[in-house]
Amino acid sequence: MGLPDWRQSIEARKAQGLYRQRLCLESAQGPLVTVQGEQVLAFCSNDYLGLASDSRLVDAASVAMSDVGFGAGASHLVIGHHRYHHQLEEALADFTGREAALLFSTGYSANLGVLSALCDRGDTVVEDKLNHASLLDGARLSGARLLRFQHNDTGALKARLDQGGGQTLVAVDGVFSMDGDLAPLPEQVAACEAAHALLMVDDAHGLGVLGRTGRGTLEHYGLDASQVPILMGTLGKALGTSGAFVAGSRDLIDMLVQFARPYIYTTAMPPLIAAATLKSLEIVAQEPWRRAHLQHLIHRFRQGALAQGWRLMSSHTPIQPIQVGTTEAALALSDALRQRGILVTAIRPPTVPVGSSRLRITLTAAHTEAQVDQLLGALEDLAPAWAGSSQMPPGGH
Ligand SMILES: *Cc1c(COP(=O)(O)O)cnc(C)c1O
Repeated sequence: MGLPDWRQSIEARKAQGLYRQRLCLESAQGPLVTVQGEQVLAFCSNDYLGLASDSRLVDAASVAMSDVGFGAGASHLVIGHHRYHHQLEEALADFTGREAALLFSTGYSANLGVLSALCDRGDTVVEDKLNHASLLDGARLSGARLLRFQHNDTGALKARLDQGGGQTLVAVDGVFSMDGDLAPLPEQVAACEAAHALLMVDDAHGLGVLGRTGRGTLEHYGLDASQVPILMGTLGKALGTSGAFVAGSRDLIDMLVQFARPYIYTTAMPPLIAAATLKSLEIVAQEPWRRAHLQHLIHRFRQGALAQGWRLMSSHTPIQPIQVGTTEAALALSDALRQRGILVTAIRPPTVPVGSSRLRITLTAAHTEAQVDQLLGALEDLAPAWAGSSQMPPGGH
């Protein structure tokens, strides 16, 4: 019996320009990183508030580590639920204005957990076509019928709600991870209320960034827990640590503790991560300048890039993609920036739809105005060949 022919799948991926390789980071996360021995100015992390390498998080983690050591040692339901986890859950419930919150080791498993615990065969899950992969995979795991609607099209959402059977759960990203635009939540709330469907928002990219106090996309729109009963957020983006949470009513959280297999059958995150995240939440509250500076950089970047003729997406978040079309074009533009000392990785299918490969530029509160100007300077060199050519590389395809 031979091994499966993996080589063939790998070679096919290479031939399509979709082969993926990892860069090895040799420094802390931040605007200036060392990659393959070379220092580059990076615009592609999700460290939106610049907290991933903040020394206060490191200190908080060190204190927790001297207190309780490194590993949680068990799953939450056995004996791995430490006081630090518990404190963080209470702080997250408070931060999101909800009765309770539940920690997950990753955002991926949080979405799998919610959808598989709350939905079953006979139920319907309705999702935006551009939702994060983990929401789509969660629906698959649940066995419910999955209906998808055209991105941000509330008419299409309503049509799907009419087709649903059993209990219906609608799940959307608050901020779309590869486009940077927001879900039209107020309209979606109304549609869900009319259809008696449950609404879940994954706010991985809004939390800490949007809203006056950084509470995310719901705060941006002024929506409360009764309008969006299920809120999921991740800790590995703006909060700079790792893991995720779901917040909602006490009953929702109790349901997840009982039935979410991706919660139950996994080791709790190291308690030191919870301790560091508690510090992040304090910083989010105490340092509004991070959000203000970030907004300033977003505005500066958009003005500069639009003036050079780049077509940007309708995003006012730190996610500012430049869509170029083909995978080859995205890789070539990424290389051209790299030659100018700037790192922005190309995003290709299946992460984004075929024909919409892009450079996903992200800004963070740790970037300086001068660094954004450096990015704009490099883009200015490339604009004559790239920006006007209707999402095609020079020479076209
Ligand atoms: C990153 C992300 C996730 C997954 O979170 P991890 O903690 O990285 O597993 C889920 N949803 C969205 C929208 C994300 O961007």
